[in-house]
Amino acid sequence: MKIELINTGSELLLGRVLNTHQQWICRGLADLGYEVSRQICVPDDGPSIQAAVRESLSRADLIITTGGLGPTSDDITRDLIAQMLGRKLIFDPAVMAQIERYFASRQRSTPPKTELQAMIPEGARVLPNLNGTAPGLAIPCEPNPFSNSSAKALLILLPGPPRELRPMFTDLALPLIQREMPLSAKFVCRTLRTAGMGESLVENKIAPPLEPLVRQGLEIGYCARIGEVDVRLIARGECASEIVAQAELTARELLGQTLIFGIDDDSMESAIVNLLTDQRKTLALAESCTGGMIANRITDVPGASAVLIAGLVTYSNQSKQALLGVRSESLDAHGAVSEVVAREMAEGAIARLDTDYAISVTGIAGPSGGTDAKPVGTVFMALARRDAQTIVRRQFNNFDRETFKFVTSQQSLSMLREQL
Ligand code: ATP
Repeated sequence: MKIELINTGSELLLGRVLNTHQQWICRGLADLGYEVSRQICVPDDGPSIQAAVRESLSRADLIITTGGLGPTSDDITRDLIAQMLGRKLIFDPAVMAQIERYFASRQRSTPPKTELQAMIPEGARVLPNLNGTAPGLAIPCEPNPFSNSSAKALLILLPGPPRELRPMFTDLALPLIQREMPLSAKFVCRTLRTAGMGESLVENKIAPPLEPLVRQGLEIGYCARIGEVDVRLIARGECASEIVAQAELTARELLGQTLIFGIDDDSMESAIVNLLTDQRKTLALAESCTGGMIANRITDVPGASAVLIAGLVTYSNQSKQALLGVRSESLDAHGAVSEVVAREMAEGAIARLDTDYAISVTGIAGPSGGTDAKPVGTVFMALARRDAQTIVRRQFNNFDRETFKFVTSQQSLSMLREQL
């Protein structure tokens, strides 16, 4: 099956907006075994959109477009596609009522021109928009006027705003695709999320023992991201579930629970919040160089309030002393970026906030502030535990500031997870 994705929006081509729809849609499809064969981004002008859709219809079975469904003059996708397919636009009172309900629920009157979004191309199925006004549309093209073969095609038009597109795609478009265009063979995919070992080492460890399963149809994919490596195990056909289950078992035996922190959509922070919740343990954070990033990641996880007691960003020496009880002698003798101060920060946090665990980080993000003994990128992180000794680690994260903060947050979270 050929699937093509057309993202419309001049702002995407001007580099003003990152094309996150491309990732969201391709990933959602790939996780179910559908692979996008081509993706294109075009500006919001009639000729570009029409040419792209016509070209995709000439070769693909499923075409997904994003953007251009709103009520303003640059929102032309729906009209252009209806025109190209020779479909009339028909006012749909049910869509209009849904839009009016949307505004009423926000105590706003329905703005002029809104009814344009209730104009639906003949034969199209409406994908209701619960988070905005413009509905998505699924238009079966049977026959497909732009294909030489007799094959039919399905065109799915999705709105541009991410908070509207994402739930619509996941909850409505994907089930529709699975219903209307089922895969010919069963597809099973499992992603093991690992941290603490580089991509090639992970591959060296698991690839040779998995070779027999590869001969039976297992596909192994590796995806390295900052501080993490994903291992994707995929199989198709009748024996897909057994092959993937066997591969997962083998990979888990080889990598162990220390390296594997989760599966599929788990994140390091969600794994930690879940573990702490299950164990009824609490956490405090004493951050310096990460500026609150660890707290931000933890609080991204629903239910974090059950485990996170406080996150302090103690950036200055004064705040390290006042809020965490770091001793001035330690700061004078060793400097703020030191094993001693990291230890005192974590121990101060656990004692003052009465938690089961406390993480501290102190480091030099750069570009200035480094010395020969402690170059830019030097970080000390500590993990204080209620009933055990504090662990302190030194790391060298010589990256740009943003990456430095993320890698440091990842290492400190990893250090905690290893102990849970
Ligand atoms: P609207 O009713 O807001 O006009 P629309 O369906 O016409 O919705 P657009 O106008 O194309 O959509 O985009 C709306 C918003 O969504 C803009 O802020 C735009 O930057 C954002 N957006 C559009 N396409 C993408 C994309 N591919 N990735 C991320 N954001 C996007």
